[in-house]
Amino acid sequence: MDSPRLDSLLKQTRFSHQDIVALLSLDEPTDVECLRKAAEAVTFQYCSNLVYYRGIVEFSNRCALDCHYCGIRRSNTRVGRFTLTKAEIVEAALWCASEGYGSVVLQSGERKDPSFIDFVEDIILTLKADSVSEALPRGLGITLCVGEQTPETYQRFFNAGAHRYLLRIETTDPGLFHEIHPENQTLDSRLACLRSLQAIGYQVGTGVMIGLPGQTLDMLARDVTFFRDFDIDMIGMGPYIRSQDTPLPGSESIEKSSAFKLGLKMIAVTRLVCRDINIAATTALQALEPDGREQGITFGANVTMPNLTPTEVRKDYQLYDGKPCINEGKGECRSCLLNRVRSVGREVGFNAWGDSKHFAGRH
Ligand code: SAM
Repeated sequence: MDSPRLDSLLKQTRFSHQDIVALLSLDEPTDVECLRKAAEAVTFQYCSNLVYYRGIVEFSNRCALDCHYCGIRRSNTRVGRFTLTKAEIVEAALWCASEGYGSVVLQSGERKDPSFIDFVEDIILTLKADSVSEALPRGLGITLCVGEQTPETYQRFFNAGAHRYLLRIETTDPGLFHEIHPENQTLDSRLACLRSLQAIGYQVGTGVMIGLPGQTLDMLARDVTFFRDFDIDMIGMGPYIRSQDTPLPGSESIEKSSAFKLGLKMIAVTRLVCRDINIAATTALQALEPDGREQGITFGANVTMPNLTPTEVRKDYQLYDGKPCINEGKGECRSCLLNRVRSVGREVGFNAWGDSKHFAGRH
């Protein structure tokens, strides 16, 4: 793209579908660097230079769903199934509070049975009560990522004290969504869940996988306009990485290095379009490049998720091949991440929830 056109495009605050496609198509390293710098400047302007931690506890890989891309899908018999005990989950989350992380993400496979719902609600109540301290007077910020649930269940979790919820739309393209999910999972149902979460009052996060087989830049551009038009507060998105134990093949049209670059461009473009939301630099970026998460931060992310899952079960929560930090413990992740954040000139927002500014703006 000629530089006067790129310069003026990057100064815009409102972007058309064509503008977004043009930005995602940038390929020349100098053009991509201009995009990165513009996204970084918007991040500083709207979100400061702080990066917030959400310590993630992957507390169960038992899943009732059979998503074609996911390593913990129900039909995968090669994975050892586990659910952490309440004591293990609380211990990991309170460690996170004592280290100043401020927020925790509880993630698992998807179950809707009453015992699971009761279990999650009980953990939220305990964490809320036990994590209050001088440094965290409102206790830990709790984000849930336990899939599609009924509005009543979402309300119960909210009443118990969870205030953010992550539910990726995976792709907003109806044909592609259908390709990568079994018949009984629909885009409409996922949209209804996101609406229900918003109506209850959660800070709502979503995201997509980047580089899915058959996915085009047009589709990704529509994903970005969806984030804006749906008033999403938080984004967690990353490259799709093949898992050998699943039926979905790798993308033929997008190579690994291109999926990584596209992942970074998606972060930058989402930052330019949605400006004041929280965006996570996800682990899938690090699976493709050792410094993938730091690069994600320099392209506009302001959140990262240190892994608090006990080392013994990490190998059983492999959503895709080559997931990093499988053999590390939470202490190693802590010092490693701090150095990673500082290596790109940013600071960590310790002992703070680091809520989405966008959410504050719409309330
Ligand atoms: N069951 C919950 C849900 O669906 O929201 C949370 C757990 S699910 C494993 C978390 C996310 O992992 C999914 O939203 C999906 O985007 C991501 N994921 C699964 N398989 C993946 C793969 N092969 N490559 C990249 N991301 C993947």
